[in-house]
Amino acid sequence: MDHDVIVVGAGPAGLFAALALHHAGLRPAIVGIPPGGRSDHRTSALLEGSVQALRRLGLWEDVVAKSAPLRVMRLVDATGGLLRAPVFEGRAGEIGLDAFGYNIANDDLNAALLARVRHLDIPIVAGTVAAVELADSPPTVVLQSGARLTAHVVAGADGRTSLVRAAAGIGVVATRYPQTAVTATFRHSRPHHDVSTEFHTPTGPFTLVPLPGDRSSLVCVVRPEDADRLLALDDAAFAREIEKRSEAILGKVTLEPGRGRFDLAAITPRQFAVPGAALIGEAAHVVPPIGAQGLNLGMRDGAVLAECLADARDRGEELGGAAAMAAYDRARRADIVSRTFAIDVLNRSLLSAFMPVHVLRGAGLWLLDQVGPLRRAFMREGLQPSHGQPRLMRADERSAA
Ligand SMILES: Cc1cc2nc3c(=O)[nH]c(=O)nc-3n(C[C@H](O)[C@H](O)[C@H](O)COP(=O)(O)OP(=O)(O)OC[C@H]3O[C@@H](n4cnc5c(N)ncnc54)[C@H](O)[C@@H]3O)c2cc1C
Repeated sequence: MDHDVIVVGAGPAGLFAALALHHAGLRPAIVGIPPGGRSDHRTSALLEGSVQALRRLGLWEDVVAKSAPLRVMRLVDATGGLLRAPVFEGRAGEIGLDAFGYNIANDDLNAALLARVRHLDIPIVAGTVAAVELADSPPTVVLQSGARLTAHVVAGADGRTSLVRAAAGIGVVATRYPQTAVTATFRHSRPHHDVSTEFHTPTGPFTLVPLPGDRSSLVCVVRPEDADRLLALDDAAFAREIEKRSEAILGKVTLEPGRGRFDLAAITPRQFAVPGAALIGEAAHVVPPIGAQGLNLGMRDGAVLAECLADARDRGEELGGAAAMAAYDRARRADIVSRTFAIDVLNRSLLSAFMPVHVLRGAGLWLLDQVGPLRRAFMREGLQPSHGQPRLMRADERSAA
């Protein structure tokens, strides 16, 4: 066997998973094209558990130097309905945290993850996987070059159209939303005061997330045809559009180079693992960008896989065997399915023209604003699951040993 685990895909979820597997004493290798080519044009708000894991994996200093803390989370109803819900404003201090998380450009995060992978000499085989053979033992990854690699487990971190998922015969439930996210980063004349603001508009969220200095990132979810129009605007006109849609809360806006375009979808596989293969990151879940859940879920996948495989090894079980893979499937199911469902409901409630839906959403926000225990539970659950948090991500230092 060449490796314990072959991680297919060198995106953030794959790189993180390789680090978590190495930390657990396993022998991972990554197959994919290392990041550093085209810019991603997105940022990621890394929430509490992800931050803990990056600390333990030894790359937090690199990440925090390029990220901004998120100390206040503000949700603003901008649906334009008759009943405007109250503004929800949650502070990290209310749940005993210094910050809910930290926002970093995906390019900077990927560079820090890759540097750590290289520092630890985790093998990276630069190339594209053409086929994955799972029917015959041992699981085998075949590269386009014809090279073949074997491992106990193939971890599919190969994105939303995952080849590993298809090779494992895992079907998906998929939804395409009539929405596209336009992303950018910009400078502004007023400070953000570490406040992240999510405007809920009739076409989806319009979110401003702090970056270091007087800078922020933007996720603007609109209809696909409006996205094309926004992307065709010159920088000055696009900046004015941001000022208008953000009610000028950050003052005058000056765009930084580059914008991204992402069509929104929800994709949930019917299984998260089969003997010999497990799914991680967007191969295991695609959700709309609401509440900064996607990559945080993806990092939990990597941490949980490392934990399940280390536990299987310690019990003397076969690493990619039915028991270890079923344990991973069980451990990820509730977290992924419940978050995908909650995000879908919130997203659809914005798009709905049905008045009672807006009344319900408004009432929900009002309750969150008014009822202390509920608002604290909402904030805590938004950060990480109350049950089943992997050891690598827990606050208690001893539990990560
Ligand atoms: C607008 C927007 C904003 C977001 N904001 C946040 C946020 O604030 N917080 C958060 O947690 N999440 C956020 N997300 C989600 C987050 O960006 C994604 O979850 C994350 O980027 C997915 O990473 P990944 O590694 O799973 O997939 P990818 O980045 O798609 O990586 C997959 C990798 O696999 C490689 N690959 C594919 N096929 C093969 C093959 N056959 N052989 C070898 N390699 C292959 C690809 O080249 C790629 O490198 C956001 C998403 C969007 C759209």
